[in-house]
Amino acid sequence: CGIVAYIGPKDAAPILLEGLQRLEYRGYDSAGVVVVNKGLKMRKVKGRVADLAAAVPARFKGATGIGHTRWATHGVPSDENAHPHLSNDERIAVVHNGVIENADELRAKLEADGAVFLSETDTEVLAHLIARTVKESDSLDEAVRTALKRVVGTYGIAVIDAERPGEIVVARNGSPIVLGIGEREMFAASDVAALVRYTRQVVHLEDGELAVLKADGFHTFASDARETAKEPLTVDWET
Ligand code: GLU
Repeated sequence: CGIVAYIGPKDAAPILLEGLQRLEYRGYDSAGVVVVNKGLKMRKVKGRVADLAAAVPARFKGATGIGHTRWATHGVPSDENAHPHLSNDERIAVVHNGVIENADELRAKLEADGAVFLSETDTEVLAHLIARTVKESDSLDEAVRTALKRVVGTYGIAVIDAERPGEIVVARNGSPIVLGIGEREMFAASDVAALVRYTRQVVHLEDGELAVLKADGFHTFASDARETAKEPLTVDWET
């Protein structure tokens, strides 16, 4: 339902929680955040963003992170089904809006390959798929692109890799993703409402596009891996 991502010099968690609160109006049943700090640190709960904020410890350091509010389509609202979803080696974390139509088929194949599923969601196949493609890829964006070739359905996703704390990859197909450009920091969200407190400079992804965010900027790519040129827009919005 709602996605927020942050990379920059600050702690990500308070920014993610604030962004998720701004997406509450869309409705949701659970919420979660994950940050990178020598491995992934995650909290996720069934319930309100306020419940999630209460579950995040005061020391939850990490300057790269992604967050989600879930509107369940596959699996009941529960702590386990809340996003983010992690790979079994806890290297890859994924948040996802939309529906993976071939999730059952992918899940059966991944289980045959040794993946252990911890949720009932369609989303979790993405974490296990990317955990496999990342081992054969030169970059996280290549790993995500390769994994998404096997996926049928709609998605806005944000992905982090514990071994690459300096980047976040986001992609869209049928579910919106907008990038927010800051001063030596970058944001992404499913809705510009999550970003307006931090920046007015935004870039909307098109279906099939993928973006790599780093603290000092971003690159966008078409599904064939060719870089796309995007002009930032200035949003004029009362907060
Ligand atoms: N299909 C996913 C799930 O059920 C994502 C739902 C959403 O868009 O929040 O977890």
